[in-house]
Amino acid sequence: MRALITGGAGFIGSHLAEALVGAGHVVTVLDDLSTGRAENLATLAGREDFTFVQGNVTHAAALEPLVASSDIVFHLAAAVGVQLVVRSPLRVIETNVMGTHTVLQVAARHGVKVLLASSSEVYGKSDRVPYREDDDRLLGPTTRSRWAYAESKALDEFLALAYHQEMGLPAVIVRLFNTVGPRQTGRYGMVVPRLVGQALRGEPLTVYGDGQQSRCFCHVRDVVRAIRLLAEAPAAIGQVFNVGSREEVTIAALAGRIRALTGSRSEIVYVPYDQAYGPGYEDTRRRVPDTSKVQATVGWQPALGLDDIIRDVMASMSPM
Ligand code: UDP
Repeated sequence: MRALITGGAGFIGSHLAEALVGAGHVVTVLDDLSTGRAENLATLAGREDFTFVQGNVTHAAALEPLVASSDIVFHLAAAVGVQLVVRSPLRVIETNVMGTHTVLQVAARHGVKVLLASSSEVYGKSDRVPYREDDDRLLGPTTRSRWAYAESKALDEFLALAYHQEMGLPAVIVRLFNTVGPRQTGRYGMVVPRLVGQALRGEPLTVYGDGQQSRCFCHVRDVVRAIRLLAEAPAAIGQVFNVGSREEVTIAALAGRIRALTGSRSEIVYVPYDQAYGPGYEDTRRRVPDTSKVQATVGWQPALGLDDIIRDVMASMSPM
């Protein structure tokens, strides 16, 4: 299989690239290195079954030959991270909507399958967990830029489904819940690498709000396995799938676990949301996926738990 991975120099994309090359596929990565990093692909550099192209998904001319020579596009390129979304909503909307539209347009022209990486953010702040793929969504007002990310990803999904319905594009949509593992950086707000980094440096662990908000963290290795299974399953075409862990943990408990596993003496400090993200930030209180659909379709469930994740992130951040 010849696979194109947009955003392949990013955290999830680089793990996917390694897994596909390892399985004997030929991989091209397109990434503008805005948040991705060339060193994430260091293990693949120089291989003849791997090509890196620096470029942006909104440029159709650059995309065209890459898509035309691929059997599948894994579209992972996106503006990511809550902090980036709050600070640069324009960049988020343009990259996520125009980039995805361009990818879908070009792929439809060439009849190339697309696996679209969407996000659990599309469920917004609904408190009816676990979230099922066909649940209603509850988002905040347009005056709170945080919701621009959710809307951009929802629009991506509408576009992919419309291209599937009207143009016959084989498209699979994957809603990724909180995904964690080596190479994820805390620079864009992600809580696990941030807290592990703080613990290893002996700095205070910053828990936002009252710490009673909860998430389910899934190891990137499990997520990559789900993405690959769904990409290969004919029954997945034209469908939306949640991919994530069911192991729910509050952020306060997460901080405690990270402190224990790192052996850190860092104190845990509670930072008001306003201070962390600026005024008017709305957080999702609980986020838990219903993963029965992906399990029924391709037999996937996560193999790794929260402690495995914390240990792997720790190992990847510890000085050699
Ligand atoms: N969070 C935190 N401390 C940090 C970074 C994040 O308490 O240093 C919280 C954040 O407010 C949210 C949760 O951890 O409630 C998960 O945040 P992240 O940005 O990793 O992902 P999200 O689920 O918001 O997309």
